[in-house]
Amino acid sequence: MPKDTSYTSLQPDARGYFPYAAEDDAVWRELFTRQMAFLPGKVAPEYLDGVRKLRLSADKTPQVKDIDARLQKLTGARAYGVPAIIPPSQFYDLLSKRTFPVATFLRRREHMDYIEEPDLFHEVFGHCPMLTNTAYADFIEGFGQRAKALGYWYSLHLFRRFWFTVEFCMSRSAEGLRAYGAGIVSSPSEAEHATDGTAVMQDFDLLTVFRTPYRIDIVQPTYFVIDSFDQLAATLDADFGALIAQAKASGDLPALFESKQAV
Ligand code: FE
Repeated sequence: MPKDTSYTSLQPDARGYFPYAAEDDAVWRELFTRQMAFLPGKVAPEYLDGVRKLRLSADKTPQVKDIDARLQKLTGARAYGVPAIIPPSQFYDLLSKRTFPVATFLRRREHMDYIEEPDLFHEVFGHCPMLTNTAYADFIEGFGQRAKALGYWYSLHLFRRFWFTVEFCMSRSAEGLRAYGAGIVSSPSEAEHATDGTAVMQDFDLLTVFRTPYRIDIVQPTYFVIDSFDQLAATLDADFGALIAQAKASGDLPALFESKQAV
């Protein structure tokens, strides 16, 4: 948990299940229902497919243990419960094992629309459906392996890579641009913004991604667009270390937002 959080971590019972209360179920139901009504036609078909394959529903707060079992059968990916944000070294180590860390606490009603720290809704509803796609799971695993191999000198640029291809990103479909990033699909305001035609859409280019600063506290002024998840997985063939060195030498591109708190 971050130091200033008002949330406390949950402890699983002997069977590995977390004790979600009736109020948690009510919050989950409201978040799930609202997003599922809004997202069709705006998100990648692979994402909605994943929601179905994981059998996510409005009925009950999902348990990481159940999501983990379903993911394992589908693509060999795993979900691993953690109290909240974990250090980058542990994060990349888990990804390199095809495992996604999932914060297990659920937001309270006063944070329905925005919560700074990732909670269960962001993790399970936002991230886990895409892990049912083999090419996407391959990408997550490969990204973790490469990030783990690179040291601290590369970390800011690796965060940018994660930000623009896992959290806030779009893909092309036969029907047009569709969101698949977890930060978009799990956030009502970001989903609205990403699909209302006001943001700058850029074709995915790894060097440009490494040179693009972002802020975590605003809706994103720009998103990168991939043609397919196979393309995403294929980007792992690039030499991350050399490209990051090149990005550092070239410097950052001008920010599309006021500069305070850029990452
Ligand atoms: Fe996330």
